[in-house]
Amino acid sequence: MERLSAEPDLLVLGAGPAGVGAALAGAACGLDTLIVDEAAESGGQIYRSLHPGLRLRSGADLGPDARVGDVQRRWLAENPVRRAFGRRVWSVDAALRVDAMGRDGPETWRPHALVVATGTTERIVPFPGWTLPGVIGLAAATILLKSQQVLPGERTVVAGCGPLLVAVAFNILKAGGNVAAVIDLSGPADWLAALPGLALRPGLALRGLGWARAVRSAGVPTLFRHGIHAVRGAAGALEVEVAPVSAARGWMTGGTLRRFAADGLVVGHGLTPAIEVTRLLRARHVFRPAWGGWVPECDAEGRASIPHLYVAGDGAGIAGAVPAYLHGRLAGLAAARDLGQPEAASLRWERAALRRALFRSVRAGRAVAAMMALRPGHVAGIPAETVVCRCEDVTRADIEAAVAAGAREMNQVKAWTRCGMGPCQGRMCGEVVAELVAAHVGGREAAGSFTGRAPLRPISLGALTGEFSYSDIPIPQSAPL
Ligand SMILES: Cc1cc2nc3c(=O)[nH]c(=O)nc-3n(C[C@H](O)[C@H](O)[C@H](O)COP(=O)(O)OP(=O)(O)OC[C@H]3O[C@@H](n4cnc5c(N)ncnc54)[C@H](O)[C@@H]3O)c2cc1C
Repeated sequence: MERLSAEPDLLVLGAGPAGVGAALAGAACGLDTLIVDEAAESGGQIYRSLHPGLRLRSGADLGPDARVGDVQRRWLAENPVRRAFGRRVWSVDAALRVDAMGRDGPETWRPHALVVATGTTERIVPFPGWTLPGVIGLAAATILLKSQQVLPGERTVVAGCGPLLVAVAFNILKAGGNVAAVIDLSGPADWLAALPGLALRPGLALRGLGWARAVRSAGVPTLFRHGIHAVRGAAGALEVEVAPVSAARGWMTGGTLRRFAADGLVVGHGLTPAIEVTRLLRARHVFRPAWGGWVPECDAEGRASIPHLYVAGDGAGIAGAVPAYLHGRLAGLAAARDLGQPEAASLRWERAALRRALFRSVRAGRAVAAMMALRPGHVAGIPAETVVCRCEDVTRADIEAAVAAGAREMNQVKAWTRCGMGPCQGRMCGEVVAELVAAHVGGREAAGSFTGRAPLRPISLGALTGEFSYSDIPIPQSAPL
């Protein structure tokens, strides 16, 4: 059942800063532009708005990111950009047909150009107990705090690496929660090494310092060069065991274990580009660890290896929100030029300025991304019996048994063990499975990655087919003997 079909000039998938930049640029060039997102409003992960229907308690403030988001939402509303929010895109085919599922059923668009601005996926390196209730991702905690105004727990341990750590700890405190401890895989020396890059965005660096100071003055202990060893207990009563890790490689050093009582553990080990759509389209990808992992091969304006396909923002390499917006604008302008839209002189000037600004802001973003890079020893330290693919309950031992039995790349491991075949389609476990396989086959390029498959997001088959009678199903004629 196809309820709605349309052929916009430009479809932008994802309404974070990159998608908003692309849509505004496309519309400014006169393209019939549609922006699609599964969220109820634009903003993406960083500029996420309060969920519609919720009201802020009096005196509460969502902070500067939400205010930037409000400005971007106003720009979208004031410009000729059609918006289709609350739509999960579950398939994109080679002819750039885009299929989505919304509250009112399926929708299909056939744009002449597609900008993919789908952002990032959070990486969590498994440890014993990571699937217990009460353990959630750092990034997921930001969604709870920003969109739902819900604390991840009454007393939460915040663990992992990168600047999201201190941002989440600060926001939990600001929302009235307690933080039992901040457990940082990095050490002070790693933060110092990132300083030259961070200094390129002094405003951001100062904001981070302010958060760190607020967390310290709240009496929250911060353990540098520590990681989660194990979590035990049940919902509401967790025991979080932490251990020291070696500086560069990130594995547990066997030092003194420390335990914290908490009812929530928020943990994240970095971000990796969300490349499900470009994988599904069989675009060319390259492996760039400093950019977060596999990224689609693109030129400076986001043109991918398939005509009229563009990638912008963190989905093209982790760099942060400001570069994402600039990159999105460049991709929108590139799409307009490639579709033969005459380019006003002012836009030509803007394109050159955008490229210069992007170059500078990406450098700061990559310094942050480097802090969130996967540490080699971290994956090597996962205990054999720990579940790696939580959708299909596949352990590290199952994956390595498949490799020992002859699986040479990710898709063989997937076929033999079912890891990556569940509802998340390998978004959660893919990076870790790749590292485990890579250790035996000579590196990440050799290990490859899970082949992209529809549906990109879990959808109900009933919603897709709509009401039907079994008698309407065509029965093929029996074949001649
Ligand atoms: C959960 C999360 C929280 C984060 N929180 C912060 C933070 O607090 N502070 C910070 O500085 N950085 C944060 N980051 C990093 C930040 O997201 C990026 O630097 C920045 O937002 C990149 O912008 P973008 O437009 O490339 O992608 P995003 O902002 O991630 O936007 C991508 C958009 O694509 C949509 N999308 C993806 N796939 C589909 C699909 N199949 N169908 C429909 N819609 C789809 C998503 O709903 C999302 O709105 C966070 C990242 C994550 C993953």
